Amino acid sequence: MILPQIERRVTRVVKAGTLTIGSDAPVSIQSMTNTPTSDTSATIAQIERLASAGAELVRVAVPGKSDTASLGEIVRNSPVPVAADVHFHFDRALEAIDAGVAKIRLNPGNIKDRHQVRQVISAARDAKVAIRVGVNEGSIVERTDESLRRADLNRPLDELMEIKLAEYLEVFEEEGFCDLVLSAKSHDAFTCLAAYRRLATRWDYPLHLGVTHAGTAQTGAIRTAAALGGLLGEGIGDTIRISYAGDPVNEVLAGAELLASLRLRPRRGIELIACPTCGRLQTDITDVVEQVRVELGDIRQPLKVAIMGCVVNGPGEAESADVALCAGKGKAMIYRRGRKVRTVTADEMISAVVDEVRSLCSEQA
Ligand code: SF4
Repeated sequence: MILPQIERRVTRVVKAGTLTIGSDAPVSIQSMTNTPTSDTSATIAQIERLASAGAELVRVAVPGKSDTASLGEIVRNSPVPVAADVHFHFDRALEAIDAGVAKIRLNPGNIKDRHQVRQVISAARDAKVAIRVGVNEGSIVERTDESLRRADLNRPLDELMEIKLAEYLEVFEEEGFCDLVLSAKSHDAFTCLAAYRRLATRWDYPLHLGVTHAGTAQTGAIRTAAALGGLLGEGIGDTIRISYAGDPVNEVLAGAELLASLRLRPRRGIELIACPTCGRLQTDITDVVEQVRVELGDIRQPLKVAIMGCVVNGPGEAESADVALCAGKGKAMIYRRGRKVRTVTADEMISAVVDEVRSLCSEQA
């Protein structure tokens, strides 16, 4: 059986340190720290957690000179390339490049002086540092720019974002600088879809996908999946960040799940299948699902684990799972690769699934 695969858009290829972005390179997962970057040890510790969860590039904010002062040590100790997020102060970009970052992110709404941008381009070229030019809906909505004041503001927001980006890219094109990644983020999933489609049609630079200010885990995950899932399904997008409030490790795990669901990256860890529960439920499995998810969080083998609430769909799902639990009244059947291996009491359900998965892992190791 051949499974359908997404055909990716052909783009230029950009290197951010050891990470390749664009065309045939796998869609990469990015995240951003939420520690003060000036707190070097806390930032390194968080980058290590993000990298071990699957982040392949981590961005850090550098609002002040004390932040860029920490960058050298952070870059030297980071297991993955580090990108600096620069707003307003072009000096921070120059300091970050000096400190050895692999990539910087500039927002066209915030650094407008072309002479300053040329200095950043020159430093980035010398140091072989990639630049992401990321336009955000916010900088369009403020419409402080002359070009946007002149533009027909009845145009759709996604079109105004494209205009803004095109204007900003002129200086990069004049300088012949092509190590660019583009982004156009909005908090609104539909605007993101429309804006990124425009970028993909007009330029062949790789695209960094994201939904900005997506909110909490619940709203953020759904908005991001709506926008990024749609774009990735069309072959658009070369690197992604899922962003929502909370521990950024969760963003990375969600990004990995999104890419694995679309078969853009191999699954890393447990694929947990759980029935949604209904009136046929014979033993409550809600806590079992969550506990199993937490207890198997360290597993890196791509095993499929099914937790089912009754015998109606349980045995069928167990057929295709590596390990399955099918709950009955006060007890549950445990299956391994479609074969029933034991019956346990309700109290033993969690440990039985965890033990079975760990024993399968050690057999495969
Ligand atoms: Fe309902 Fe059983 Fe299906 Fe779960 S497996 S949703 S309990 S029918």
